[in-house]
Amino acid sequence: MTPIDLSHIPITDNHCHGIYRTQTPVDITAWRGLFTESFDHAMRSKHVTTTLFYRHLVREMATFFGCEPTEEAILTARQKIDEQDLIRSFLRAANFDVLFIDKGYPPQELLLSDSTVSKLANCRVAPMLRVELLMQRLIAENATFSGVVEALRTALDDVRGQGYVALKSIVAYRTGLNIRTWMMDDVEEAFAVARNEVQEKGSVRLVHKPLLDTLLHVTFEEAARQELPVQFHTGYGDADADMLLANPLHLRDVLERREYRAMPVVLLHESYPYTQQGAYLATVYENVYLDLSYGIPFLGFHEMFEFTRAAFSVAPYSKLLYSSDAVGVPEVHWISTLNGRRILGQVLGECIANGDLSRAEAEQAGVSVLHDNAIHLYKY
Ligand SMILES: [Zn+2]
Repeated sequence: MTPIDLSHIPITDNHCHGIYRTQTPVDITAWRGLFTESFDHAMRSKHVTTTLFYRHLVREMATFFGCEPTEEAILTARQKIDEQDLIRSFLRAANFDVLFIDKGYPPQELLLSDSTVSKLANCRVAPMLRVELLMQRLIAENATFSGVVEALRTALDDVRGQGYVALKSIVAYRTGLNIRTWMMDDVEEAFAVARNEVQEKGSVRLVHKPLLDTLLHVTFEEAARQELPVQFHTGYGDADADMLLANPLHLRDVLERREYRAMPVVLLHESYPYTQQGAYLATVYENVYLDLSYGIPFLGFHEMFEFTRAAFSVAPYSKLLYSSDAVGVPEVHWISTLNGRRILGQVLGECIANGDLSRAEAEQAGVSVLHDNAIHLYKY
């Protein structure tokens, strides 16, 4: 099997996050903590260093810096470089055309502006709006539920006009993807509880299922009207997530609604470990797309290879989109492109060897997934 070479194809990262202003980690635990979704101290301080993702990262960074392949050597090398040069050199080496950035995390005051990232990376940058943060703000600002709904419709009236190319929802790790239709009594009761939290703490963390589900239906109506893509976190995430409720099959009620069919739905993180289920949904619903993320989840080669293979074997490749989900440090944006290009090239090489694709088709599939599909989907 000969892999196909995708190293020259500029990448559209359809889901990532901003870059920290300050690149010097406070300590070794803070650095290692960037490579785990766990909140447990021993995971962050110790065990993360023995994941295949981390070992591979150390080796690739050592090659990049021309230093010894040890954690100490790469961190020393990285700290010697001016922060802007560090960011510039990793992001330019990745060769991006566009970065689609989820503005909901980390807090914006910790991050470089999109225009700075755009200049450093020499690529376009487009923001995406995280809806739960907007909802939380509107709940804090409005004393009645109907007031929140009205304010939400106004805020989402012209999303592209505000510069955003998509919406992003993290309902999977708040109350689950089984988004329902609720009786108004339940919604009002949940709203009262949320408002109490606002009175006590000044803000609310939206985990009130009847309320969040109902506001999501308002959001979907607006998204469908504007044919605006909505990204859903699915599958593997931080310890907040109940993984059973992050299975994308729970979206069935939403996907079955004809009135939402104009809303493209992007299942993030290849729905890992539910990749087959996510790919199945991308096969049966014309508006469902599957994101292939090579940064998060933090996986070794074999699992990245397997999810890529599963996605290609099940879903049309016009429905697959490259991403990193990288957060904060440019190394993850960068190494995801190395992993993504390499693994995609190997899987497509296998497709040629198996007689599923011609060489020309395999090359076109590589360009579609790494670049073109996202450009068409987000109309950017
Ligand atoms: Zn993300």
